[in-house]
Amino acid sequence: MSIRERIELIRHDIPGYVKLIAVSKTKSASMIQEAFAAGQLDFGENYVQELVAKHESLPSEIRWHMIGHLQSNKVKYIAPFVYMIHGVDSLKLLNEINKQAAKNNRIILCLLQIHVAQEETKFGFDPDELQALLVNPSLTELKNVVIKGLMTMGSNTDDKDQIKAEFTRVSTLFDSIKTNQNLPQNIQPEILSMGMSHDYFEAIECGSTMIRIGTAIFGSR
Ligand SMILES: *Cc1c(COP(=O)(O)O)cnc(C)c1O
Repeated sequence: MSIRERIELIRHDIPGYVKLIAVSKTKSASMIQEAFAAGQLDFGENYVQELVAKHESLPSEIRWHMIGHLQSNKVKYIAPFVYMIHGVDSLKLLNEINKQAAKNNRIILCLLQIHVAQEETKFGFDPDELQALLVNPSLTELKNVVIKGLMTMGSNTDDKDQIKAEFTRVSTLFDSIKTNQNLPQNIQPEILSMGMSHDYFEAIECGSTMIRIGTAIFGSR
């Protein structure tokens, strides 16, 4: 199956409100061009250097999503062009994104990463840390970022019940933020980014509005 056919198949299988991010890390510019020619505009990358290089060589209409772990000292390289940063896992990082966005006269859209998977090594806020962040008064001063929602990664397991339990926790958290009337203006919870090639059906079932798909579009890495 071609890249175009795989994208069309996934689009056909998901509800219209779910946004598809094509995760192109380690994949060539020509494969990205093929997806772009199929109407795919949103691409996800994990590594700063690779993201910068691809941004420079590929069509400017592409919306680049930084989905990997991001170190504060690297934000400056992607701030001039990045559309959305999915893996925001500390106030320090959010402050740096705001600073670099301001330097570039831009607003950068961010998602807060939530940690619910069992793996110790995964990044992100615990649910109670998130609640503390949302009432932190310094958030209102960040004029160059908008927090558009939450992002999570499920455990790397075949146990669908466990994956669904994790996704449901994040979805419940997302719903509680959406109904909060006292959010600062720069928190606009509209996006729940969860689901990858092996678990996107479960993610959508649990309320995902944005899926990040690599392998199922571009093949294994
Ligand atoms: C690589 C990656 C994906 C895509 O994974 P696939 O299993 O190839 O679909 C999604 N999200 C994040 C954060 C990733 O690092």
